[in-house]
Amino acid sequence: MSDKGIWEKVLEKIADKIDIQTYHTWFNPTVFLGLKDNILSVKVPNRLFEEWLSEKYSQVIKESLDELGYGEFKVSFVSGKPISTEPMVMKSPKSKVKRLTFGDSSQMNPKYTFESFVVGDCNEFAHAAAQSVCKNPAKNFNPLYIFGGVGLGKTHLMHAIGFSTMQNCPHLKVSYLPSERFMNELISSIRHDKTQEFRELYRSIDVLLVDDIQFIAGKDRTQEEFFHTFNHLFDSQKQIVISCDCHPRELPKFHERLQSRFEWGLLADIKPPKLETKIAILHKKAELQNVALQPNVAMFIAGKIRSNIRELEGCLNRLIAFSSLTGREIDMELAKEVLTDVISDEMRVVTIPRIQEFIADHYKLKVTQLKSKGNAQRIAFPRQIAMYLSKKLTNASLPKIGSKFGGKHHSTVLHSIRKIEDLRKKDRAFHKLINSFIESLT
Ligand code: ADP
Ligand code: MG
Repeated sequence: MSDKGIWEKVLEKIADKIDIQTYHTWFNPTVFLGLKDNILSVKVPNRLFEEWLSEKYSQVIKESLDELGYGEFKVSFVSGKPISTEPMVMKSPKSKVKRLTFGDSSQMNPKYTFESFVVGDCNEFAHAAAQSVCKNPAKNFNPLYIFGGVGLGKTHLMHAIGFSTMQNCPHLKVSYLPSERFMNELISSIRHDKTQEFRELYRSIDVLLVDDIQFIAGKDRTQEEFFHTFNHLFDSQKQIVISCDCHPRELPKFHERLQSRFEWGLLADIKPPKLETKIAILHKKAELQNVALQPNVAMFIAGKIRSNIRELEGCLNRLIAFSSLTGREIDMELAKEVLTDVISDEMRVVTIPRIQEFIADHYKLKVTQLKSKGNAQRIAFPRQIAMYLSKKLTNASLPKIGSKFGGKHHSTVLHSIRKIEDLRKKDRAFHKLINSFIESLT
């Protein structure tokens, strides 16, 4: 592979890890310059990029390099003249006899701690299980299997377990690694005739944290080796924590015996966050960067991004970057300006189900309640608001809206709309609230 190809590979990896807008903003404009002494020189447009990339994305870059087997490379961002453009010879990392290593705490992001993790309904159980594991490794839940969709905090929790266990039990050997890395090291050990060493290394660990186990789906040899490592650690009463994007039984191309082992301990799922949790996370992330976030701006961002917390964070970071670039305050105006193109088209289309989801979330109801016949004020009033917004923000007719709310008559819909219109005229605070709903939805 050409030297340039290396940076392209790294970019591909990074693109998988961060939200697409952040990628476009910060990584698209980079240009590979050269490789010398294990330093990849990369040209960026200006000093801000230099600082921002080195400060905010060093972890992602390092992770990507590691995962590609280029752990020994460093990246240097330059905004001035290139350091050197003479052709350089690179030693293929594969041709080098690799020292056998295994995952350790250096792969963990120090920002991913329990303190920085916001607990909500969606992750309460996984969080409690994670804490319990740190207090009593291998006693309560073994293995702990954490599963849930992309960007919902699995890796964050895994790292938090790692750090906290090291603090609680400094004598224990804690090891964190993505399952891909387990596979890569196994392959490398086979190639260099070091499988015995590989086994001994992994079997000497006290707390093994394996992230994204779904990546070894279909990899028979890796699964087999992992099975033996698992059994060995389990039998020696060592803690195993696994994360995955799905339930063990939904893992495709996986050995059944491994799937059933995963169910021996505790299965803890993480669900997509509700609106209030998304808002709490935004405030927490802003606070960590010493930025004050106005409630309406937090609500605006949270209402736009459906569930992926990584994207939520991407929006916030973009906003903070623009504010620091331009010296403007982070307010609704800036948020709208900066985040319009962040929001996917799909999100911009306002549909009745989206309105129902949003309103149900806000009033802590279930969408089915909005569609029910229940006429208690706590349900009827949000339902009227949702009907009003459906009329205002979509092209649906009154009968159509009625049908989407569990088959209500169109006169009921009309009555609701009039009631909300009236209230908007009479009550300033209510008027503002409805405006904030509209802002968040559009
Ligand atoms: P996953 O591994 O499930 O894909 P990550 O753990 O990488 O997701 O989380 C993506 C981003 O969202 C990280 O920056 C993480 O800090 C953040 N995040 C996820 N859940 C929470 C939470 N409950 N509190 C604070 N930050 C969170
Ligand atoms: Mg992850």
